[in-house]
Amino acid sequence: MNNLEPSQQERRLLQDAIGRYAENFLEKNPELQAYIAEGYDKKEGDHFFEIDGQQYSIEELLQFIGDRVDKPGLNPASGGHLGYIPGGGIYTSALGDYLADVTNRYAGVFYASPGAVRMENALIDWVGREVIGFKKGFGGNITSGGSMANVIALSTAKIARNIKSRDLENMVIYTTSQSHHSIQKAIRLTGMDECIIRLIETDNHFRIDTDILKRQIEIDRGSRLQPFMIIANAGSTDVGAIDDLESLAQISSFEGMWLHVDGAYGGFFLLTEEGREKLKGIEKADSVILDPHKGMFLPYGTGMVLVKNMKDLMKANDYQASYMQDADAWHDEISPADVSPELSRNFRGMRMWLPLKLHGIQPFVDALNEKLELTRYFCEEVQKLGFKLGNQPDLSVAIYRYKAKDEKTTEQINRQILDLIHQDGTVFISSTNVNKKFWLRIAILSFRTHKREIDQLLALLKKGVELYA
Ligand SMILES: *Cc1c(COP(=O)(O)O)cnc(C)c1O
Repeated sequence: MNNLEPSQQERRLLQDAIGRYAENFLEKNPELQAYIAEGYDKKEGDHFFEIDGQQYSIEELLQFIGDRVDKPGLNPASGGHLGYIPGGGIYTSALGDYLADVTNRYAGVFYASPGAVRMENALIDWVGREVIGFKKGFGGNITSGGSMANVIALSTAKIARNIKSRDLENMVIYTTSQSHHSIQKAIRLTGMDECIIRLIETDNHFRIDTDILKRQIEIDRGSRLQPFMIIANAGSTDVGAIDDLESLAQISSFEGMWLHVDGAYGGFFLLTEEGREKLKGIEKADSVILDPHKGMFLPYGTGMVLVKNMKDLMKANDYQASYMQDADAWHDEISPADVSPELSRNFRGMRMWLPLKLHGIQPFVDALNEKLELTRYFCEEVQKLGFKLGNQPDLSVAIYRYKAKDEKTTEQINRQILDLIHQDGTVFISSTNVNKKFWLRIAILSFRTHKREIDQLLALLKKGVELYA
C-alpha cells in the first residue's frame, strides 16, 4: 500500500480483514488455552518480525500475528487467566480506542480539544467523587497504568511538601512487605530511596500492624527523624490484603503525614457493597491510585491517580512555556498536561467513557460481585481437595498449598502441580513466596471468569494431588 491515506475501498478491505480476525478470535476464545508454554524459542520465519522495508498484504500479516504474537505465552483475554492480576479487554473499550485513534483528538490541553478534556475530567470526577468518595477540590489524571500513577502520586507528595534533597535522609516512609514493586520503583524514581524506608510488620491478615507503626513513629520522632509518608495497600497484589485505612488515615493526619493508598488491584471493588465496607477510610487518603485496566476490565493501558488536593497535583506538574501561550487563556477546565508529566498522549478517556456510557455501571458491579462470589466458592472447594489456605481473602486473591509431611516435599509437590497446570494451559495460575514459603495463588478478576473456569482449575488441582501427593 503506497499511500498513507488508503482509499475508501482499501479501508473497507483492511477493516473487513481485521474485523474477521477479531471475530474469529472472540468466537474461539472460550476454548483457547489461557497459557501456551510452547513458542518461546525463536522459530524459522521469525525474521518476519524485522522491519525490512517491504510491503505485505494484511492477510499475510494477520496470519503471522495469529501464529507468532497471539499464541505463545499468556492469553489475558481468556477467562482462564487466574494468575498475577488478570487484565480485562472489554470489546466496547477496544472500539473506543479505535474511535479515539481515528479522530486523534489531542487530549493534553483543553484549548486543543475541549470535548476530549471534558470527557477525561468527567471520568476523573466520577472516580474521585463517586468511587473513592473524595470531597470537592480533588484532582486526578488518567495514566498509562498503575506504575505511572504511583510515580505521579509520590512525586506530588514530595513536591507538595517542599522536600529538598538535603531533607531526604531524615525522612521516613512507612509501608509493608506487601507493597507492590512499582512502589519501590516510584520511590527510587522520585529520589526518595534516600529516605529511611520502614517495612512495618503485618498481622495474620497481612495488614500493617498499626500499633507497631505508631510505636515506630514515636521512636523515629524521638530520634529527630521526620515521619513523612505512609503507603497503604487497598488490595495487595500478593494476597489481596487491605490495610486498616481508617486507622492509617487517623495516624497520618495526627502526625501531619501523607497517606498514599495503592488501589491498583482493589480500588474498583469500591463499586460493590462488600468492597465499600472493607475499603472504608480510603476517602481520607492524600493520594490514591486505581487501575481501570484491572478492576474495570479495560484493555491494558489505563491507570488513574487521584490526589485529594488538586493544588498539590498542579504544583507538581504545572509548567509554563512560551510556545504554549495560546493555551493559557483557557482555565475553566483542568488540562491533563497541567496535572501530569505528559504532554502529547493518546486520548485515554474514550476507552473508558464509551463502555461506561454503553453499559452503564451496573454490569461492572455485577461482574465484580461475581468475582468475590467465585473466590469464596474456590476457597471452599480447594480445601475439600486437601489444600490449606494461606489467607482469608479480603477480595479475590487467595494463596493455598498442598501440605505434605515436611516443607521440602510440600514445595516439591506444589511446584509439580503448578507445572502440570502450565503444561495443560486450560487455565493459568501463578505462584508466590510468602513468609519464605512457596504458595500457589489464584487471582480472579477477568470479566470472562465464571464458575466453569474455577471448576477447570479445581479439576487440575485434583489431578495434581492424585499424581504427586
Ligand atoms: C498491578 C499493580 C500495580 C502496577 O500497576 P500497572 O498497571 O501494572 O503498572 C501497582 N500496585 C498494585 C497493588 C498492583 O496490583
